[in-house]
Amino acid sequence: MVAIRGATTVEKDTPNEIKSAVGELIAQILSRNNISAEKIICVTFSSTNDLRSYYPAKAAREWGLFTVPLFSALEPDIKGALGKCIRVLMLVESNVKPIPVYLRGASALRKDLSAVYNVAIDGPAGSGKSTVAKKVAEKFGIICLDTGAMYRACALKCLTEGVSVSDENAVNLVLRDTVVTVKNGNGAQLTYLDGVNVTDKIRTNEISMAASTVSAHALVRSKMVDLQREIASKTSCVLDGRDIGTNVLPCADFKFYLTARPEVRARRRADENAIKGINSDYDKILKEIILRDSQDENRSIAPLKIAADAVVIDTSDMSIDEVVSAVVCKIQEKI
Ligand code: C5P
Repeated sequence: MVAIRGATTVEKDTPNEIKSAVGELIAQILSRNNISAEKIICVTFSSTNDLRSYYPAKAAREWGLFTVPLFSALEPDIKGALGKCIRVLMLVESNVKPIPVYLRGASALRKDLSAVYNVAIDGPAGSGKSTVAKKVAEKFGIICLDTGAMYRACALKCLTEGVSVSDENAVNLVLRDTVVTVKNGNGAQLTYLDGVNVTDKIRTNEISMAASTVSAHALVRSKMVDLQREIASKTSCVLDGRDIGTNVLPCADFKFYLTARPEVRARRRADENAIKGINSDYDKILKEIILRDSQDENRSIAPLKIAADAVVIDTSDMSIDEVVSAVVCKIQEKI
C-alpha cells in the first residue's frame, strides 16, 4: 500500500468548481501514478476554511468513487495560508513509488514537484546511457523515457508486417496507423505497440539494427519526436536517446552526452547477453555497434552528435555508479 499526496485550488467557492477541481485531482493522481480507480483503498480530503459550499468527499463520490471510503474535513483558518485549497491523501494498493500531484494554485505549495524539468542523455549504443538515465531518474523521483524503445517498436512493427525497414514509403504506410505508447511500470518503462506490451520483444540484435534504419525516416522521427515532446512537456523526466539535446529538446535544462570506446561498448553488450544466458559473438557485436554508430551519425535527419552545451562523459573506464554520481552532481550544481 502507498499513500499519495495531492492538492488543488478553486477560483470561487461554488459546488461546480469544487466538483470539477476534485474530479481533475483524482484523475491526475491516477493517471500520473498509472493506477486504476479499483486500486483505491480510501481517500481523505481537507479543504481550507473558505470552502464551505460542497464536501470534496461528496464530489469524489459523484466523480465515480462509489464504493471507496471517503472523508473530508475543514482546516483551521491559518493566517497567510494558501486560500481556496483542497488537499488529498489517497491510499492505494500498489508498490509503485508515489508521485504527488499539486495542481493549479496548489503547485506553489510544492515548487520542487510542479516545475517540469528535463534531463537529456544522448550517446551511442552501449555508452551506458539507459542504465544511467534510469538511475538518475530514480534519484530525482522523476520518470525515465527510453526513446530508443519507441524506434525499436516501429522496427518490430515493420518486421512483423514483412516490410523492409529501408523502404521509406512502405514503412510510412505501415506506421501511419501504428500506435506506440509508453507506460511507467514499477519504475521501468513498458513499451506498447498497438496496445500490446512489446517491452521484451524489442531487445534483440535484429531489432537494434532495424531500429537504426527505420529511425532515419522523416515521418517515423516526427511521429516519435512529437510523442517524446508531449511527455516531456507534461512531466519532469530523463530522456535517453541520440538527438534529445540537439533536436527533441534543444532547451533541455540539463544535457549530457555519454560515450565510450567501441570495444568497451561491445564488451558491455556481450557481457549483458552472457548474464541473460544469450550466447553472443563479440566481433559481430563490435561490427554492428560500429555500423550502427555510422548510420546514426551520418543520417540526414537529427543525426547522433554532441549538443554544443552538453556535458560530455567518456564512460570507458568508469563504473555505472561513478557515471551516475557525475551526472547527479552536475544537475545538483545547477538546481
Ligand atoms: O538506444 P537504442 O539502442 O535502444 O536505440 C535504437 C536505435 O534507435 C538507435 O540505434 C537509433 O538509430 C535510434 N534512436 C534514434 N533517436 C533516439 C533514440 C534512438 O534515432 N532518440
